[in-house]
Amino acid sequence: QAASTGKSILELVGRDLKSTQNSEELLKKHREATGGRIVTRFPPEPNGYLHIGHAKAMRFNFTVAAENGGYTYLRFDDTNPVKENQEFIDNIKYCVEWLGYTPHDITYASNYFEELYQLARELIKRDKAYVEHCSKAQINEMRQKKQDSPYRNRTVEENLKLFEHMRQGRFIENECCLRMKIDMTHENPNMRDPVAYRIRYVPHPHAGSDWCIYPTYDYTHCINDSLENITHSLCTLEFENRRESYYWLLEALDLYRPIVWEYSRLNLTYTVLSKRKLEKLVKDKVVDGWEDPRLLTILGLKRRGYTPSMINEFCNEIGVSRNGNDNFTQVSLLEYFARVELDREAPRTFGVLDPVLLEIVNYDEIQQKDIEAPLFPTDKSRGSQIYKLSKHVYIDRDDFSETHVKGFFGLTPEQLVCLKYGPIVKLVEIVRNANGEVQLVKVQAIHDHKEKLKGYLHWVSQEHSMDAVVNLYSYLFIKERVVEDDWEKYLNPDSLVVKNNAKVWKNLENSQVHDRFQFERLAYFVIDKESRTDKHNGKLVFNRVVELKESKEK
Ligand code: ATP
Ligand code: MG
Ligand code: MG
Repeated sequence: QAASTGKSILELVGRDLKSTQNSEELLKKHREATGGRIVTRFPPEPNGYLHIGHAKAMRFNFTVAAENGGYTYLRFDDTNPVKENQEFIDNIKYCVEWLGYTPHDITYASNYFEELYQLARELIKRDKAYVEHCSKAQINEMRQKKQDSPYRNRTVEENLKLFEHMRQGRFIENECCLRMKIDMTHENPNMRDPVAYRIRYVPHPHAGSDWCIYPTYDYTHCINDSLENITHSLCTLEFENRRESYYWLLEALDLYRPIVWEYSRLNLTYTVLSKRKLEKLVKDKVVDGWEDPRLLTILGLKRRGYTPSMINEFCNEIGVSRNGNDNFTQVSLLEYFARVELDREAPRTFGVLDPVLLEIVNYDEIQQKDIEAPLFPTDKSRGSQIYKLSKHVYIDRDDFSETHVKGFFGLTPEQLVCLKYGPIVKLVEIVRNANGEVQLVKVQAIHDHKEKLKGYLHWVSQEHSMDAVVNLYSYLFIKERVVEDDWEKYLNPDSLVVKNNAKVWKNLENSQVHDRFQFERLAYFVIDKESRTDKHNGKLVFNRVVELKESKEK
């Protein structure tokens, strides 16, 4: 059932608006508004930052419309002011644009508060809603027992008056609410008189302090879809059992009915996506805010070095299906798209994470000190850079061993190595400090070495180096599928390893935030926005995007 293009998905979803029992009259009005075009919406609730699951939802909604000559609304589903704020609204707008989408219009559920209120009065007049005075717990109990509320048969006049009083602020929070009058014996619990309005004495980030009653998702969403003439209301599978009440309400109000189609939520291995969990990690400072490079929020991914095209190509690849909300996609698939693009676009350089200092004892004898290295080894026509040799060079601690070990390719007292693109060197002396730690390794450049070498090491000349901070990010969780209640137990204590004493070539000095490189033999890196700040003593900060190859240990 998977489909990755908007065209084929539309075949699956259907496009005949008569299928949802719209009258000719409603269809005529609808067509006048849309010109017969496909209309979708992306409806985030501004209660957190957008994540890669939302990227999937956007990809679906925006491409289905665009590939069929239609358009898409960005609609803030902002009916619950308790958890929503302007920071989240701004973040959502930014992420939608960053991922390359241009909404037909940006709307807010709260723009319709007056209309929604008048429609609620209409619903009451049609005897299809009533003011409920039972508590939340009592409502739940009656739902379970399929019992009518004692307030269910209030007269239309009484309900209109009480609803007016709700709006005027004459009740306290939770004292009463407005419920749709559907069917308390219905087999679908969501049809057992869902709540339409609740009282909240909280100002609204968009609507200000005009209201103390706020409509629920169940009441609002379908009406918004209808008023915006959405042709295809695409949502995730957890809303499947709310489709009946969606249609019930539109029918009760004689409003135009869109086609509703549900698809699977995206879950990725080794991470969590639900906003509730992300919020907890942010609040508890387990991560460095919503933008932490370990989070798969859109801004976290951006800071991690992901580009919109990497994310969108991943979304194209996974497509949409109705396989279920419990399916997990391997995060390695997302990394694959990062790697493909980085291999193509990220110039090569060398970076040393844990430096060991070498001294080339016969440095003066070396002829070739300006060493040319390709920016892209597989395509030399794309240019080169010069690595200037100096008497002292850094190699990585991982590439040096004081004793020879079988299978080790690095520098040892017995093993020669090549400083990649440059000279071959042989160890001549290990110099130690008073504590016996290696302080300096003296090596000799060899000109006439004939045997095959094992190690071609990355290196940086001390004289042409600069200090850098390197953040080695790994998965945030050690468990592949994080679904448990005690999910925080599976946090990876080593999800960030910081290399504070790294060395990189000085020619990277003018790099800009978000520039990406391959540190040959190590990984792909991106320049972090905290580069050159006091927090890091003015140093450049590099974030590891992905490793060069998919790691085997999992
Ligand atoms: P969360 O549980 O993370 O709060 P949500 O569904 O409440 O998610 P919204 O901001 O209300 O998040 O969602 C906006 C749109 O994005 C909805 O249509 C929703 O179905 C979709 N969406 C959210 N998370 C995912 C996901 N993981 N995969 C696919 N679509 C998603
Ligand atoms: Mg939601
Ligand atoms: Mg939510």
